[in-house]
Amino acid sequence: MSTAWGVSMPGLAPKPAGRATAARGAAVLHEGDWAVPTAPRLNLVRRLREQGIGAEPVLAALARIPRERFVDEALWSRAYEDTALPIGHSQTISQPFVVARMIAAVLPARGRLKRVLEVGTGCGYQAAVLAQVAEEVYSIERIRALYDKARANLRALRLPNVRLAFGDGYAGLPEAAPFDAIVVAAAAPALPEALLKQLTRGGKLIAPVGADEQQLLLVERRVAGFIETRLDLVRFVPMLPGLAK
Ligand code: SAH
Repeated sequence: MSTAWGVSMPGLAPKPAGRATAARGAAVLHEGDWAVPTAPRLNLVRRLREQGIGAEPVLAALARIPRERFVDEALWSRAYEDTALPIGHSQTISQPFVVARMIAAVLPARGRLKRVLEVGTGCGYQAAVLAQVAEEVYSIERIRALYDKARANLRALRLPNVRLAFGDGYAGLPEAAPFDAIVVAAAAPALPEALLKQLTRGGKLIAPVGADEQQLLLVERRVAGFIETRLDLVRFVPMLPGLAK
C-alpha cells in the first residue's frame, strides 16, 4: 500500500479573531487572526465576483484563507494576484479563479459538502479553501516534499477537518471513499477510472483533462451512469503516476 497517512492537524478550530492566547514561554499568538480578510484578499474576492463566481460560500471561503501563507516569502507581494505561482518541485499553487470555479462546480445548491477528495495537494491552499465548505477534506499528493510542506502550512492554520495522504492520486483513496466531490488539481490524459468509482451517487468530480490543450470536465454520477459536461480551457501541471520521494 503506497499511501502514507498523515493526519495533519488534530486540535482546535480557529479561535475568534483577535483573541490572544498565551503559548509556551512568553510568546503570544493571535490564533484566529489569519481568517480576518485583509484588503488585498477582499479585493481578490471582489474581482472573482466580477469575473462571474457567484457562489457565496466559495467567495467567503477564499476570503478566509491567507494565500500568502502557502507561498515563499519572496512571493508574498504577489499572493493576491489572480495567477498561479511557483511552489517548488516544478509545481504551482493554483490560480484563485480556477480554485473558486472548480469548487463552485461541485458544491451542492444547498448545504455543505460532506466528504471531499482533492488530488494534488501541492502547498495545501485549495485543501484549506475546501475545508471551509466541506465537513471532511482528504487530499493526496505524490511528491513527498510537497506533502510535508502542505502538512506544515495546514497545521499552522489548525484546520481540524483536513487529512493529508502521501500517495498516487490515480488510485484515489479507496480507504476513505466514497466522496461526494472529487477535485483534481493536475491534468491527466483521460479521466482516471478509479476516481469515478469512488464517487457517491449524486457525487461530482471536476478535473482538467488533456495534454497541451486541457479542458475542465465536470462529471456527475447518477444511478444510470455518468454525465459529463465540458467547461473552460485551462492549464494545469500534469498528473503523473507513481510517487516522488
Ligand atoms: N492544489 C494545489 C495545486 C497543486 S499543483 C493548490 O492548492 O494550489 C498540482 C499538484 O498535483 C502538484 O503538487 C503535483 O505534484 C500533484 N500531482 C500530480 N500528479 C499527482 C498524482 N498522481 N497524485 C497525487 N498528486 C499528484
